[in-house]
Amino acid sequence: MMEHAGDLRDGFGRVARRLRLSVTDRCNLRCVYCMPENPRWMPRDSVLSFEEFLRLARAAVGLGVRRVRVTGGEPLVRKDLHVLVRGLADLVGPGAVGLTTNGYFLARQARSLSEAGLRTVNVSLDTLVPATFRRMARRDGLRQTLEGIQAAEDSGLRIKLNMVVMAGVNEGEVPAFGRLARERGWEVRFIEYMPLDGDHAWERGKVYPAARIREDLGRVGPLVPLGSDPSDPASLWGFADGVGKVGFIASVTEPFCEHCDRVRITADGKLRNCLFSTAETDLRGPLRSGASDEELAAIMLDAVALKGPGHAIGLAGFRQPARAMNAIGG
Ligand code: SAM
Ligand code: SF4
Repeated sequence: MMEHAGDLRDGFGRVARRLRLSVTDRCNLRCVYCMPENPRWMPRDSVLSFEEFLRLARAAVGLGVRRVRVTGGEPLVRKDLHVLVRGLADLVGPGAVGLTTNGYFLARQARSLSEAGLRTVNVSLDTLVPATFRRMARRDGLRQTLEGIQAAEDSGLRIKLNMVVMAGVNEGEVPAFGRLARERGWEVRFIEYMPLDGDHAWERGKVYPAARIREDLGRVGPLVPLGSDPSDPASLWGFADGVGKVGFIASVTEPFCEHCDRVRITADGKLRNCLFSTAETDLRGPLRSGASDEELAAIMLDAVALKGPGHAIGLAGFRQPARAMNAIGG
């Protein structure tokens, strides 16, 4: 492990060990919970190059970051993403690089990503019903996503699925996803719908709570707690009589902010100390005007020090961030 100059510690004693790089805000899908139907993309010249992401990642690793996840927007719309994955794997080790993707373009890229050092891929899949896919993603793509998952398995990648459960939309499919975990040996993570959509149409009534998901899964088979790392947003369970795991990311009903160890960099080079931050710290300007590694590190340390205690979803003071999830990086 690299020597580091100081930890990315906030005023509440939490230390950032995981970095998320949102490598683009663009996407081939338009999921209703993530972006508006007609987004205005970031200008291309404001989006960081792979070299720029690697420079910032190196600075963060110098400050104690141990894991890096590549996300977006849809990361696989960026040409040659495996080149970035390889650079990150050289920095933190192959097992410490993650990728979150909608899977649409995975069939073509799984092999090169695996060769670049990726071990596990998190694929977002909310439904197995084509019409529901079209309703949630505002585009077709179920077949391509399933082919992508198959190609990833064939390339030796471990599969984790992310399912955003929306009340009245896809909650009826929770047991089917539980069976995917139990029978295919995948880890399926059920995610509560958070107020980060592009239309600001989120309402609490559209959240299908993790407690209900657990009940629904109990009917698939008896669940046993697996005990998870407290800084992992998903609490993990296994089936007593099956393979695979299920996890619950209950950001709304069971927030885990006090254990948060994440920091994010957006595609246009802004550091966000929280998914729900309403303020960001510019790294791109200093980076492009020749800041030294020490100067970049100092900016990161200051930005993380200002991290708030947690989100206030549902409370009077809550303000949804101006950017939608696709531009923040999920
Ligand atoms: N395009 C890639 C994908 O879909 O996996 C990566 C980016 S996406 C923003 C990352 C994750 O955030 C996905 O699993 C997606 O389902 C999730 N997500 C997006 N908007 C969300 C919301 N409002 N609430 C909960 N999860 C959300
Ligand atoms: Fe695209 Fe992922 Fe957002 Fe869906 S969740 S619109 S796939 S970035």
